This record gives sequence, structure tokens and C-alpha cells, in this order.
Amino acid sequence: MIVIKRKPLEEILNYIEGHNKILVLGCQECPYGCATGGEEAVKKLAEEIKNKMKDLGESIEILEKTLIRLCELRYVKSINDLIKDVKAIVTLSCGVGVNLIADIYFEIEVYPGMNTLFLGAELREGIFIEKCRACGDCIVGYTAGLCPITRCPKNMLNGPCGGCKNGVCEVRKGLPCVWYQIIKRLKKRGKLEKLMEIWEAKDWRSLYGKGIRELREELGVENKN
Ligand code: SF4
Ligand code: SF4
Repeated sequence: MIVIKRKPLEEILNYIEGHNKILVLGCQECPYGCATGGEEAVKKLAEEIKNKMKDLGESIEILEKTLIRLCELRYVKSINDLIKDVKAIVTLSCGVGVNLIADIYFEIEVYPGMNTLFLGAELREGIFIEKCRACGDCIVGYTAGLCPITRCPKNMLNGPCGGCKNGVCEVRKGLPCVWYQIIKRLKKRGKLEKLMEIWEAKDWRSLYGKGIRELREELGVENKN
């Protein structure tokens, strides 16, 4: 899942300054899995904003809505009627959600209520570990299921580098060297010689996907804003 974390209240308040009607829009997918989203998180943020405004002697109307996913047009469009007089939207979603909402409702100010951290796996409740950087050209079939792009601080594709000491990476204390692990795992499988094969040069352009132009054209908003 995409691992995300709530932004500090002060930053969100700064975004919505001067607006008297906003929508806090939550996502039930990844934020919910990260225990940072969903209806409860929307309610909590709305309450925090209201309380702060009350302390400041200001009033604000806050609409609350949680969609199944903020990264899919079919769900996002269901807020069309809700946002009529809304001046700003704060999304509790990953960066995909906030960008999609900002593209569709470009006449409204759209702000992120979350920081997008990484693609991760949940080890136990609320504890995530980064596993993938969505590079677009997965190579873990060659590396025994271990991703050097995500786990090696130097993104080495031909490690280990000279900084591996007793299986530990030189970059951060206690960080296992992923290339040490790859070699160990391949050796155990009797497939170490596979690493001697010459790979095609990795096309790093795929790390950045197709790019914003395609997205905007697909949405049909290219000439509108
Ligand atoms: S090689 Fe690329 S797609 Fe595969 S796990 Fe690593 S970052 Fe993700
Ligand atoms: S020691 Fe291993 S994990 Fe650390 S930078 Fe070198 S190859 Fe990468």
C-alpha cells in the first residue's frame, strides 16, 4: 500500500486560511490501511480545525466525506453536488488523490492533508516497511525477490559496493546490505551464476511513469486550466 502520514494541523490551517466553507475529503483505501485515513480521520481533522477556529473566535463550515478511493474517477465524481459552495478541499489521501482532485476541480483550492511516504508492507499494525519505488521495470526476478532500488541507499544494480561489512551497509548503522542478502539467497538456491549474466541497461525513464501530460489529456482537462 501507499504509506502516508497526516500533516501537522498548523500546516493545514495555513492552507485554508480565509475560507469559511471547506470539505475534508477522506480515502478509505491506503490511508485506512495506514490507520491514518477513513471516516474517523476525516471526523478528527474536522473537529481539530473547528476547535482551533473556535479558539481564534472564527467560524467555519466543514463538510465531511469519505470515498472508497480518491485515485479513481468513478468515485471522485460523486462529490460534484457536494462541492457547490466549497472554497477549499483538504484531502486525506496520498499524492495521487490530491493531484486527481486538483485536476478535476481546478476552480477550487485543493490541499494535501497527508504526506506521501512510500510503497510499503505492513509488518504489524501501524508499522510499515518500504518495499518498492514503483520503478516501472521490476528486476526482482533477477535478485531473488529483493529490491535493490528500494533497499540499497546507492540504488546499486551490481552490488555489493565496497562499503558492505559483514553483511551490513556502510550508509546506515544496522542496515542489512541488500546485495549481501541477494547473493546469500541466490547461493542457497544454487543460482548464483545467474548474476554473471549481462542485463539490458535499466530504463530509468519508467521510474517517472507516463507523465503529467498523458494524465491531463486522459482527464480531458488539458485546455481548461
Ligand atoms: S525493482 Fe522496481 S518495481 Fe520491482 S520492487 Fe524494486 S522498485 Fe518496485
Ligand atoms: S553496502 Fe550494500 S546496501 Fe549499502 S550501499 Fe553498498 S551495496 Fe548498497
